[in-house]
Amino acid sequence: MTTIDFRTQANAMHDELVVRRRDFHQHPELAFEEFRTAGIVAEELNKLGLEVQTGVGKTGVVGILEGAQDGPTVLVRADMDALPILEENAFEYASVVPGKMHACGHDGHTTIALGVAKLLSRHRDQIAGRIKFVFQPAEEIVGGAKAMVADGVLNDPRPDVSLGLHLWNGMPLGRLGVADGPVMAGSSRFTLKIIGKGGHAASPHQSLDPVVCAAHVITALQSIVSRNLNPLDGAVISVTKLDAGTAFNIIPQHVELRGTVRTFKLEVRDLVEQRMREIIQGIASAMGCTSELQIEHDVLPVSNHPDVSERMRGVFQSFVGADGMDTNERTMGSEDVGLFMTDIPGMYFFLGASVPNSDEYYGHHHPRFDFDENALPLGVALMSAAVAEYVLPK
Ligand SMILES: [Zn+2]
Ligand SMILES: [Zn+2]
Repeated sequence: MTTIDFRTQANAMHDELVVRRRDFHQHPELAFEEFRTAGIVAEELNKLGLEVQTGVGKTGVVGILEGAQDGPTVLVRADMDALPILEENAFEYASVVPGKMHACGHDGHTTIALGVAKLLSRHRDQIAGRIKFVFQPAEEIVGGAKAMVADGVLNDPRPDVSLGLHLWNGMPLGRLGVADGPVMAGSSRFTLKIIGKGGHAASPHQSLDPVVCAAHVITALQSIVSRNLNPLDGAVISVTKLDAGTAFNIIPQHVELRGTVRTFKLEVRDLVEQRMREIIQGIASAMGCTSELQIEHDVLPVSNHPDVSERMRGVFQSFVGADGMDTNERTMGSEDVGLFMTDIPGMYFFLGASVPNSDEYYGHHHPRFDFDENALPLGVALMSAAVAEYVLPK
């Protein structure tokens, strides 16, 4: 069995990866509108001889690279969508579509996954198993993974392991975040209506003021994280939107609040919801108001299977060294990649890609976001080696 030098092969693809990424970057498409991107992806996968399915989860594309022999199925996921942001970068490959921008690096993710497909398709005769490349739409509105799963992306064949990566500007190039357990939070959104009794602002005793009630609720909700949860369990409760009233001299009839809850564990999520209901109901009732709380659990936590991440750290060590990996990199940000890792062991890692020599830091979703394009060949090498660990007999 000849061993494959993933790094050399990926480095040789550097220029074409950059050209492709810049093309995607110039032509960003929002959630479920990734028609051009999906078209390019499908065309490239067809060219490589993969079995291609389009229109999976509306604009998603699936490519199956079948090895010469039977073996496990590895899912590789890349997201394709951009964000509704007016790009402020002045480089020549900046977005040509006003108000749309690849400000999260998904142009890079799509490019890397296509690079992996190309690299591994050259070694089809050595592969025992198959690789299911999943190009997902609509990550930024957390709808794409759900749509693809509903369209059967996890069936026929069902993956034995799911892998994914996110370019990460918070870390320098070459540094990886490969943690065990939860790495991105589950996300729930809530809408709370507090209903009182309106009246003249000068006669509060004749009304039931939902504004004062809302103020107490907002403050008390912050006690859930600090007083009800185990301090070692991370969680966030943020009230982010308030709608109340029409004038300075009117006590309104009701107040509407919106916000988000982020948690790493489902049992923590459920405890937060229970405490929210108790606190809101208790305070509203004490102040003579009533309340209506709606919570939608949008996204599951992304949780790395410890066996998979352990195995991947072994693979990645030869690329970045043991010191190049952070086993604690986590974020309260959310991702719907977790849906491909439910009941399927998986691993989602962060690939450091901050722009070198830049004085100013522009994070993900910033109008001046960019990443170091040297992360593209590195990403191809790492992901190819990760997949090979499962489908290339040693
Ligand atoms: Zn994003
Ligand atoms: Zn992203």
